[in-house]
Amino acid sequence: MSSSALGTYAPNTWCPGCGNFAILNGMKTVLKDLAEGVCPPENVVIVSGIGCHGKIVDYLDVNSFYAIHGRAIPVAEGIKIARPELKVICFCGDGDAYGEGIEHLIFAAKRNVDITVVVHNNRVYSLTAFQYSPTSPAGFKGRSTPLGSVEAPINPLELLLAGRASFLARGTSRGMTQLTHLFREAVVHRGFALVDVLQVCATYNNLYDYYARKVYDLQDHDPCDRTAALARIREWDYNSDARIALGILYRAEAATFEETFPASPPDGRDRDGRIRAFLDRSA
Ligand code: SF4
Repeated sequence: MSSSALGTYAPNTWCPGCGNFAILNGMKTVLKDLAEGVCPPENVVIVSGIGCHGKIVDYLDVNSFYAIHGRAIPVAEGIKIARPELKVICFCGDGDAYGEGIEHLIFAAKRNVDITVVVHNNRVYSLTAFQYSPTSPAGFKGRSTPLGSVEAPINPLELLLAGRASFLARGTSRGMTQLTHLFREAVVHRGFALVDVLQVCATYNNLYDYYARKVYDLQDHDPCDRTAALARIREWDYNSDARIALGILYRAEAATFEETFPASPPDGRDRDGRIRAFLDRSA
């Protein structure tokens, strides 16, 4: 299967130079590889939130769900728990996942639900045309903060490490080879996997030159070492002028939520039976 086979007829409305193209193409390559291996496209479900990134569900020809703002994660969790055999990949923005949806994100990590989360972290609200987001640096001047934001950003990867995420990685929308590698590793990881993509918004927050000066690839880093991962994650806190580590920051093996979720509760019904009963009640 060629990666173009996963394309759709929907006209692409992202701006020229938008980092979302790199994410789309990187994930297409991974899904194509999966299709030739163990996971045909009909067994893949993608979920998106609200934001420029959300249009990705229109551009990938697999099953998809366009969720509401901040709620892509619980939708992805629900799909995975109901249908554990499916590969579930969730695309979110930084305002989406690190703002309104942060509680869902941390608890999905805590549960180690076997989903992949790709965050299009352009560090600005772009679809609503230029407001500061949870990862915008202090002093960021946008439409809602014309004199500069007085808030320091959160460090989402530090929060997620504390939340027991079992796979954390960071890439940029200019490093296609590395980004595709990180997507592949995240998708095959058993458990909650998140790739924080420093996705450049060419229109409202063009950081291509800044990242070109600051990023470096992780070497001699043991991703199984939680303390080392925390040190690398804290090196750059989305606010300082420090160097920015790219690659797999943390990886651990742990039982997934689906594996530990009791298949046969005391009332004797299996999981499918309980889900059917729930759906019948809701009908
Ligand atoms: Fe991409 Fe920014 Fe344009 Fe949205 S506004 S499509 S994030 S470049």
